[in-house]
Order: sequence, then C-alpha cells, then structure tokens
Amino acid sequence: MATVELDDIRKRFGPTEVIKGVSVDVADGEFIVIVGPSGCGKSTLLRMVAGLETITEGELRIGGTRANDLEPMDRDIAMVFQNYALYPHMSVAQNMGYGLRIAGLPKAEIAAKVQDAAELLQLTELLDRKPKQLSGGQRQRVAMGRAIVRAPKVFLFDEPLSNLDAKLRVQMRLEIRELQAKLGITSLYVTHDQVEAMTMADRMIVMNEGIAEQIGTPLDVYERPASLFAAQFIGSPS
Ligand code: ADP
Ligand code: MG
Repeated sequence: MATVELDDIRKRFGPTEVIKGVSVDVADGEFIVIVGPSGCGKSTLLRMVAGLETITEGELRIGGTRANDLEPMDRDIAMVFQNYALYPHMSVAQNMGYGLRIAGLPKAEIAAKVQDAAELLQLTELLDRKPKQLSGGQRQRVAMGRAIVRAPKVFLFDEPLSNLDAKLRVQMRLEIRELQAKLGITSLYVTHDQVEAMTMADRMIVMNEGIAEQIGTPLDVYERPASLFAAQFIGSPS
C-alpha cells in the first residue's frame, strides 16, 4: 500500500499541452476513479503514473518518494489494461506467473504466489486451462491475477471493462471493488463511463481537456458539481 501524490502534473506532446496541471493526493488504500470523455487525457495521466510516459512538469510521489524518474518496474505498480491480452499458448497459471518468471523468481515461489492469487480470484480450478477455454469474466480475473501476484502497492486500471458485455461489466465492477478492498491496494481507475465512476469511486476526478474540473466523492460531485461541465457530464440537476 502507498499514497500517490500528483503535484501540478503536466504533459506536453510537442507544443500541445494535454495534461494542464493536475494535483491530487490519493490516500493509502483509496480507490480513485478518473472519469471524463474520450480524449480528455485520462490514459496519458495514468501512463505517467505508471512510468510509460515521461512527466513534462510537476512531481509524482509514490509512498512519499519522488517517482518521476523511476523505471516502471521500480514503481511497485501493476496495471490492468483494456486489452488485457493473455498469452494464448500459456495456461492460466503460466499467464499469471509470467511477470514473476521474467523477474527471475524461483519456481516454487512463483507457484505459491500464483496459488494464493488464484484462491483470491476463484481461479483455482482453472489454472491448467488455456485462455480460449475461459469466459470473458474469467479472462478478466486472470488479467487481475497477473497484476496481483506481483504484490503491487498501487493498482492502475485503464478502462478494464470496456470490452465486456453490459451484464458482466456490472458484475466485474463489484468484483474489482471487493478484491481491492480485501487487499487494500491504492487504486487509480480510468473510465469514460459516469455510472461506473459513480458506483465504484471513493473519490472521483472529473476530467475535461486535461484539467481536473472537480475532485470529490460521487455524492459531492452529484450534489455540488463544481462546473457546468461536471454537472452535465455527471448528469446532476443544476
Ligand atoms: P483519453 O484516455 O481520455 O481518451 P488520452 O490520454 O489517450 O485521452 O489522450 C489525450 C490527448 O493526448 C488526446 O488529444 C490525444 O490525441 C493526445 N495524445 C495521446 N498520446 C499522444 C502521443 N503519444 N502523441 C501525441 N498526442 C497524444
Ligand atoms: Mg484512454
């Protein structure tokens, strides 16, 4: 577990500023949802936290330590993407243990960690299957398992449910929150879906064109939208 602090973070691609000074202190164990329309900068912001994009300006601290210049592998972060590509030729167990094998952990240790994660995710019976023998929800859980085995301090999610059908999406929202609460892992979760944000967030960051228009609990944002954009995007009466 760790705090994640963004201090006036900016990102420029050439002359274009796409993140225009975002500041937020994410508490230990908090589940923060970054929500906003397509193109507003959600993925870019998350990728800077992950270390997949450089930070043009501002400071990022993870667990109180400046992280701007740390390699992704040294940030104690695990990321779950929209296109959670599993390796089709590997079993569930091999998929889940992949990152640990790359990191050079001994076989027995990998097996134990995979077993623990599988129990948590109710995948124990499925460890020998190949991805194509799984349902969409099960594949999603394997992708989560691959993130969990590394015992990250921070979870980053980029629209992890957008490829699933509506019913499964609703179920997976609950599963992700239950798991996150059980593990207490500080999480930043990106979605363009207002309902998903409202139902999952401890606090949400409403983003518009690279600016955090409002940061607050779903109730705060709904009842006291800080801008016309926030009101219209969340759909609250104002
Ligand atoms: P979102 O995830 O909210 O849909 P993105 O973070 O993907 O938004 O993109 C925010 C803006 O930054 C968009 O205008 C996008 O075109 C631009 N952008 C993203 N990545 C790059 C890049 N590598 N080079 C130039 N512009 C980019
Ligand atoms: Mg995106």
